[in-house]
Amino acid sequence: MVRFDRVSKRYGDLTVLDALDLDVRANEMVAIIGPSGSGKTTVLRMLMALELVDEGVIYVDGTPMTHMPKNGGLVRASKSYLRKMRENIGMVFQHFNLFPHMTVLENCIEGPVQVLGMRKDEAEQRALDLLDMVGLADKIDQYPARLSGGQQQRVAIARALAMRPKIMLFDEVTSALDPEVIGEVTQVIRKLNDKHDLTMLMVTHQMGFAREIADRVCFFCEGKIAEQGPPEQLFDNPQNERTIAFLSAVL
Ligand code: ATP
Repeated sequence: MVRFDRVSKRYGDLTVLDALDLDVRANEMVAIIGPSGSGKTTVLRMLMALELVDEGVIYVDGTPMTHMPKNGGLVRASKSYLRKMRENIGMVFQHFNLFPHMTVLENCIEGPVQVLGMRKDEAEQRALDLLDMVGLADKIDQYPARLSGGQQQRVAIARALAMRPKIMLFDEVTSALDPEVIGEVTQVIRKLNDKHDLTMLMVTHQMGFAREIADRVCFFCEGKIAEQGPPEQLFDNPQNERTIAFLSAVL
């Protein structure tokens, strides 16, 4: 569903992604862990077309996203092509980024109506279903400031899902939360994974979170995957010396 084919990204002299190969299968949940500055968030930002690749190609559902076919080869994607491809992808951030002047329900219907051109009643019905799924049916008329961090993050997840993405990206979604509400967000994401109709990629510093919900964990180091495998293998029996050093520092 997502494929990075030898993708490189540099900022000046700094190589952030170094010929990265990454494959995420349809309906798989992949967690990206690794030291600060290893390029984890850059992977998500590239999928959101917030950054352009320097080299390599990113494919989404078999179609090149960063490039468009032309004259039998590939040329760099135009902005409108990138925007279209990005409609397949939803992202949830560490700091929720809800619209503060809109209620919970309004937050979840704004995108579908304004961007996808969905009818308001249809968008509203879908938003109500999603808010029910994340356990917030009783909060639809509240403003974000009146909600706890965990509730705001669940609204952010419902809002992203309202756009009907095929792929969901989670960037440090539990990092800004108090420990007692992390569980409620984890539970919602696990529920999404159990439904098996979304491909998910998440960056996290919380190893417990990765262990609990990921199908596969990728350990990033210097812009590449140094080691990857099912959580139990990567956390309990890491093979790469950098993974071992990292895990012994954070666990
Ligand atoms: P963290 O765990 O600290 O969030 P990360 O692994 O997610 O780190 P990235 O955010 O992907 O790391 O950043 C990788 C490197 O690229 C960092 O050294 C960062 O400072 C640098 N970087 C990211 N964005 C830019 C930018 N727009 N201009 C210059 N350097 C950047």
